[in-house]
Amino acid sequence: MPELKLISANFDVPGRSGIEVYIRGGGYRAARRAFDALTPEQVIEEVKKSGLRGRGGAGFPAGLKWSFVPRESALPKYLCCNADEGEPGTFKDRLIMLKDPHLLIEGIIIACYAIGIHTAFVYVRGEYVAEAAALQRAVDEAYAGGFLGANLFNKDFALDVLVHRGAGAYICGEETGLIESLEGKRGNPRLKPPFPALVGAFQGPTVVNNVETLANVPMIIEKGGEWYAAIGPEKNTGTRLFAVSGHVNKPGVYELTMDVTARELIYDYCGGVSGAGKLKAFIPGGSSSPCLTADEVDVQMSFDALMKAGSMGGSGAVIVLNDTVDIPKLALRTLKFYEHESCGQCTPCREGLPWLVKILTRMLDGRGAPGDVDLMLEICDSIFGKTFCPLGDAAAMPTRGFLMKFRGEFEELTAGGKAETA
Ligand code: SF4
Repeated sequence: MPELKLISANFDVPGRSGIEVYIRGGGYRAARRAFDALTPEQVIEEVKKSGLRGRGGAGFPAGLKWSFVPRESALPKYLCCNADEGEPGTFKDRLIMLKDPHLLIEGIIIACYAIGIHTAFVYVRGEYVAEAAALQRAVDEAYAGGFLGANLFNKDFALDVLVHRGAGAYICGEETGLIESLEGKRGNPRLKPPFPALVGAFQGPTVVNNVETLANVPMIIEKGGEWYAAIGPEKNTGTRLFAVSGHVNKPGVYELTMDVTARELIYDYCGGVSGAGKLKAFIPGGSSSPCLTADEVDVQMSFDALMKAGSMGGSGAVIVLNDTVDIPKLALRTLKFYEHESCGQCTPCREGLPWLVKILTRMLDGRGAPGDVDLMLEICDSIFGKTFCPLGDAAAMPTRGFLMKFRGEFEELTAGGKAETA
């Protein structure tokens, strides 16, 4: 069965956010094992062996990402834990910070030991006040308990962890936007390359990892990469925290292996589609992932299967839509979000998104024109893959998905008006 609680296994244990209960439950044993029994290279190998992929959006292999950071560096190296969780529909990392913050801290300690990092930042989205406070309390406890600071586990290894509150911009969840913001600047994403693994925070080599990704690390070190790799489908190992919202009877966060299908997730775990309507579509990986229709509900919720289906696993946020949903209105709402959050640095995103909003607004106002749907598709193509950072893609991909899968609903809005030219 896909249900397997690893990350969330102790979420309901009373007092688990405190260090005493965490240690009593075996906490910080994995970090000790890493320091006592493994070299940094062996830790990276173990994480590579596990097949752990990033849980923030891109699904990039974590061990490989760590191995890109040079071992020797003239400048300090940094770990940035991305706790911005700004993708609409996503609300799973906050549970780790609130309910088991030491699990994240232990993952950070092991990652820093493996990569040779002595300063880690946790960039927490501005709106997460309680989460930042819970994390800060845990960091303070970890210092007091000797798990942070100097001479960790009796080794000549020091580590500082700083909780940094973001200012509430979506784009600060993009790794280079996050780094700029962390440095005290406006969170404008940087043009890549150079990638943060070589030139990141304060110009030093930097790894940016999502909260859930790092929370997986202690169990990998404790039980071994091979154990972890045996969980779930090949190349989509471990569990995922799926944050399910929208038209389901039991919205919430479900930890499942990635062989679960969307049908099982929606009907078996989330109690089926809510309201009078039937399933119309679902967005499988946060608002930037293209929607899939009710006919595609048997898709496996793994990174690779969703990619093959023309969407993506993204941040693990599943938004379920019943057939009362007006897709053009949803597309406009989504576009307005990305238009608002665009930093404006690059032309396709800065100019293309307001143009799409303008056309769709006109269509919904009853002034649609023949050719509007194709024009919107053309604009999406002019944005996709042509911007500094993934925000352009994040807006173009779902818009294109809505237009292609529900073209009829958009075409209905285009009768009668005068065509606009590109
Ligand atoms: Fe800024 Fe948009 Fe360009 Fe990203 S894609 S750098 S958000 S203008």
